[in-house]
Amino acid sequence: MEDHHSAFDSSDIELLEKSVEETLEHGCKECGFRHIIFTTNVALEPNGTKAFFLEVECPKCESEYRDIMAMK
Ligand SMILES: [Zn+2]
Repeated sequence: MEDHHSAFDSSDIELLEKSVEETLEHGCKECGFRHIIFTTNVALEPNGTKAFFLEVECPKCESEYRDIMAMK
């Protein structure tokens, strides 16, 4: 039986926080605007790989994109 609650541990959260920091340092990838709006997401692939990504919305140039930050 699978336990989805144990799928993500504290090292995942650490990786996520570090990746967010790095991504935000560069700002919007279209215009470089620093104050982008974002939400974080983690997807668990069927093979057990975790994909950490960021859904970004830029209030300046109005671009929206999904940025994969890390795979584990
Ligand atoms: Zn932008």
